Amino acid sequence: MSILVVGSMAYDTVETPRERRERQLGGAATFFCLAAGAPAGVRVVAVVGDDFREDDLRLLRDCGSDLAGVERASGCSFHWSGRYHDDFIERDTLATELGVFASFEPRVPAAWADSDYVFLANIHPALQARVLAAVTAPKLVVLDTMNLWIETTRTDLLAILPRVDVLLVNDSEARQLSGERSLARAAAVINGLGPARVVIKKGEHGALLFGRDSVLAVPALILPDVVDPTGAGDSFAGGFMASLAEQGVDRTTGDKPFRTAMLAGTVAASFVPEHFSVEGLLRRTPAEVARRLAVLREMMVP
Ligand code: AMP
Repeated sequence: MSILVVGSMAYDTVETPRERRERQLGGAATFFCLAAGAPAGVRVVAVVGDDFREDDLRLLRDCGSDLAGVERASGCSFHWSGRYHDDFIERDTLATELGVFASFEPRVPAAWADSDYVFLANIHPALQARVLAAVTAPKLVVLDTMNLWIETTRTDLLAILPRVDVLLVNDSEARQLSGERSLARAAAVINGLGPARVVIKKGEHGALLFGRDSVLAVPALILPDVVDPTGAGDSFAGGFMASLAEQGVDRTTGDKPFRTAMLAGTVAASFVPEHFSVEGLLRRTPAEVARRLAVLREMMVP
């Protein structure tokens, strides 16, 4: 089962109440691939600038990612800079520099037209649409987006949503996109825009699945030490998609495997906030994944 992703590969400057890190490895596609892990062997479509470190590409390859769709262009890599509030949850974007993404024309290798699962990670929706058009018959299409694209490229976003099976957004994005405060109403509005299922991430409060026939609320794992939550949402997506691919679901499947995938996403995301950048994902071991899954299941038992 093949997974294809398009999204940012970036350098992030992150300020927390305790520390500031300059140009650390980030990007939605980066976190997604590392979280999905080697067995998933994600096919990546993206662009990096001439400042993108060879070591960082190697790190992704070592985790099983296929970078045949990653172009190197002359210019700067995508750079995002953000500052976290005292709660380590709320954050302000200080800068979004598209760099080489501004003129990116994605080329999906012909052999990837057969991709089964497509994750349209957070990036300009016109780029998401071009990549999706290059895949012949995906079993499942999942899309993530954010306030910047909802505000500035709403028409492009609305144009692609009818081809999306699962929308994965955080609570404020769901409200912004739908114009509804109630998350149940927001999910219903989003269903009307195309996606039959909606996953709403709520940071340290967990995530909700509005499925076709059921709703599931999953708490987040309780982490004693939060250092840098950047990338937790994309890592949720990586764990979620890898689980769906492993279970071989398609858009006609019932809610059950999607509910299972919510747990995998929650566990994958939990490795991110305890360290800066991708460090927590790199330290993840199969034993610790199993332990956290057991803790999560225990938290959900009445
Ligand atoms: P998350 O914390 O999961 O929401 O994702 C944070 C990652 O998204 C960072 O590594 C950024 O590089 C990347 N990012 C932030 N803003 C954007 C944007 N407008 N488009 C694409 N990627 C972005």
